[in-house]
Amino acid sequence: MTSSRRSFLAKAGAGTVAATLFSNFGSTYQNSLQAQSLSSSPSDLKITKVTSAYFHSDQKKMFIKIETNQGITGYGEGVDAVGGTYYMAKQLGEKLVGKNPINVNRLFDDLRRIVPLAPFVGSQSGAFVAVLSAIDIALWDVAGKALGLPVYQLLGGKYRDSVHMYTHPIDNDGPPEKIAASCLAGRHAGYDAIKFWVDFSAFDGDPNKQDAYNRTYNNKEMARVVNTVAAVRAAVGPDMAVMIDMHTRFDLPTALRLVKALEPYNLTFIEEPVPAENVDAMREVALSSSTPICAGENLYLMYAFQTLLERKAADIVMPDVQKCGGIGEAQRIATIANAHYVPFAPHMVGTPFAMMASAHICASIPNFLMLESNQKIFSDWEGSFKEMPEIKNSFLKVSDKPGIGLEVIEDGLRKNATPGIPFFA
Ligand code: MG
Repeated sequence: MTSSRRSFLAKAGAGTVAATLFSNFGSTYQNSLQAQSLSSSPSDLKITKVTSAYFHSDQKKMFIKIETNQGITGYGEGVDAVGGTYYMAKQLGEKLVGKNPINVNRLFDDLRRIVPLAPFVGSQSGAFVAVLSAIDIALWDVAGKALGLPVYQLLGGKYRDSVHMYTHPIDNDGPPEKIAASCLAGRHAGYDAIKFWVDFSAFDGDPNKQDAYNRTYNNKEMARVVNTVAAVRAAVGPDMAVMIDMHTRFDLPTALRLVKALEPYNLTFIEEPVPAENVDAMREVALSSSTPICAGENLYLMYAFQTLLERKAADIVMPDVQKCGGIGEAQRIATIANAHYVPFAPHMVGTPFAMMASAHICASIPNFLMLESNQKIFSDWEGSFKEMPEIKNSFLKVSDKPGIGLEVIEDGLRKNATPGIPFFA
């Protein structure tokens, strides 16, 4: 009985193997290659090449690509403060060749300290830190792929499987009813949280604007802001989370008057009412307002956030992961914020890759509030990633794949590449 059963199984097994061989002939080698772990010897992993790519004519987005001696490739993204940094990225990348990418935090510190003269060429803020952010994210992507783990796991595991996203109206210009209709369309598209900007005069030549340079709003300009917020709130209803961005445009008296006037509309936060560089001015607005003040997209590294938080100048912090120093630094910022019982709501203006990179941190910390998105992000970068992340009912599922979890298609990215700048070369 046992013998015949065994022989039956052996025959069935042989049949299956033969059938598989014939049906998959030619792909067997490919399949077995794919089944191999590339992380067989992470201790021998070495960076062999670091290149960059820049996008659109304003170069406000860039990718870093890190290649290794084991065929593992990682990508990272930087935004906003990255224009004109091709040679900086090249110089920083050369410092990494021969290093083991698994030691992410150590390499981050090496680049900030050991690169000759780094403290004297701006390793505290601006372009240097934005490029460093892209490098840091690429290192985490490589490390995750080498160890076979999603980045959130390397960050200590996750508190949540999906992260809460907010969006923008597709149309943020024009009269209050037009912006309100666009916000309502955002709600109909499935979002329960939306942010729009209200510093119109700076952009659209508001005839009520009396001085092109001062940061003061007159009563007509103020009424336009208040009427717009009122129209949006009336359109989307009381339950939707509504946020506004003031883009750092206002002087202190205008900011104080505006946040007071907007108190009845139950905003989840007001973003950057005054310029980012004066923490005390931000503090004065924050202390004056019952609406939470959100700040930080124009700050770099944990030190700036430590000051912001110690001075109680923000009720919510919003570092941009692609600019503030990257994944490790964003998690350190979140931890400092948590020690102050302050929520963490990252700014995000990158590609879907930046969105997923940010989502790993948002999953890994207790004090996460919301992550930024926009409704055009997927169509703008169509064909650039093998599988696009999906936002359903305002939530994004964090990838469980190794690394950041989005496979980059370089030919897709190339469609948005800045002409005249080498593309991953
Ligand atoms: Mg902003």
